[in-house]
Amino acid sequence: MKKSLTFALVGFSIGLGAPLGAFYILWGRVGYIPPFQDFFAIQWDQYHFFYEYMMIGTSTVFSAFGYVLGRYADQIRSKNRRLLLESQTDPLTGLGNHRYLHEAFHHQYQNRKSDSEPISCLMMDLDFFKKVNDTFGHPFGDEVLRVFAHVIKKTIRPGDIAARYGGEEFVCILPNCNKEEAVKVAERVRETMANHTVFFKKTPVKITVSVGAATEAGISANYHELVRLADKALYQAKESGRNKVIAV
Ligand code: GH3
Ligand code: MG
Ligand code: MG
Repeated sequence: MKKSLTFALVGFSIGLGAPLGAFYILWGRVGYIPPFQDFFAIQWDQYHFFYEYMMIGTSTVFSAFGYVLGRYADQIRSKNRRLLLESQTDPLTGLGNHRYLHEAFHHQYQNRKSDSEPISCLMMDLDFFKKVNDTFGHPFGDEVLRVFAHVIKKTIRPGDIAARYGGEEFVCILPNCNKEEAVKVAERVRETMANHTVFFKKTPVKITVSVGAATEAGISANYHELVRLADKALYQAKESGRNKVIAV
């Protein structure tokens, strides 16, 4: 519920309380305590304009005040959400960044239904990307990074998480995914990229990717070991010729 509405309702209720408060103060001040109904009847008969005026006036003022205050709180809340999102998004590719990845891993590890539920990680690195930059320029390199991010997004399964680890390295977290399935996802990403052509003006450019996949099915308190294993597998994929998936 929006805070502007909540605060306006609270303001309205407080506003309604003002004439009630005045009534009770007067009731206690008449020297003796008359029966409630009698006192109410007298007050209403003689001063109902005063009470009505108070009720409408204070509830209107307090509701308006609550609404303005609530709107301000709503604006701060949505600004905070936007800032949080921006702080976890890679501006070039629109994928999550390193900070987001940390949060996502943390969340996955906390929410695993059991320690035996497998979780996989893909570490992906574009091949000879420095050469792409050197040959066609950095703006084209940036375009390739955007294309690759798009390929990843379209290729992974719903529920999988992708992020830019840094530079031309990307990571996927594959929750509830064993080694066999992880290799399938990795192969799909590798193959899609290898079959894709990015054009520099009218020149077709082929870019490949190497992938290291690691799966953890045992008990582990954190994800660092999983990332380390995926990184090691990636290194092997690079060493053994690139445009490959190696799983450990
Ligand atoms: P390898 O196949 O072994 O991975 O070789 P590589 O050339 O891809 O790897 P290397 O680490 O030598 O080069 C990575 C390059 O990625 C160097 C750096 O300029 C480039 N790079 C990193 N971030 C960006 C970016 O945001 N935009 C562009 N255009 N290039 C980037
Ligand atoms: Mg590279
Ligand atoms: Mg690299």
